[in-house]
Amino acid sequence: MALCEWCGNVIDEDEVNDFCDETGIWTDYIKKELCKDCLEQAWEDDVDGIFYDKCEECGCEFDIIEANSYFNSDSSVGDLYRSDVEDKKGKTLCASCALGYIDEMYDDQKDYEEDDDESEDLSVEDAALIWESNGYDEDYMYGYSEEELRDALD
Ligand SMILES: [Zn+2]
Ligand SMILES: [Zn+2]
Repeated sequence: MALCEWCGNVIDEDEVNDFCDETGIWTDYIKKELCKDCLEQAWEDDVDGIFYDKCEECGCEFDIIEANSYFNSDSSVGDLYRSDVEDKKGKTLCASCALGYIDEMYDDQKDYEEDDDESEDLSVEDAALIWESNGYDEDYMYGYSEEELRDALD
């Protein structure tokens, strides 16, 4: 019969299963032989090296606690949690995959906000055509001068 590595009490598998049901952690991914009380304590205290999960994106096995703290220490995250991204994507994600999605999520917003900036990549010829088709509206000059645009149209 297995003994808890921390307190030395006999581990009640049923109780451990209860703990897993409550937290959504897989029994197979608990890397220490701990009783339910110690597991709860470890979970509460964010002890790393115990609770693991498998990323459904890249397939890596990762430390949940470590991933959470890594994730939340990244400045691009804002007040999101790794679990928020998981909820959004509907799958288990390691910190780097979750951060990858954050970039995507923010990029979508940025594209929208930085519409004007991005159009600077437009060639002067393209810009001129758009400018012309918009009735020479100054909102469609894409950072080029009127002279440049007229030259491009010639
Ligand atoms: Zn214990
Ligand atoms: Zn991953």
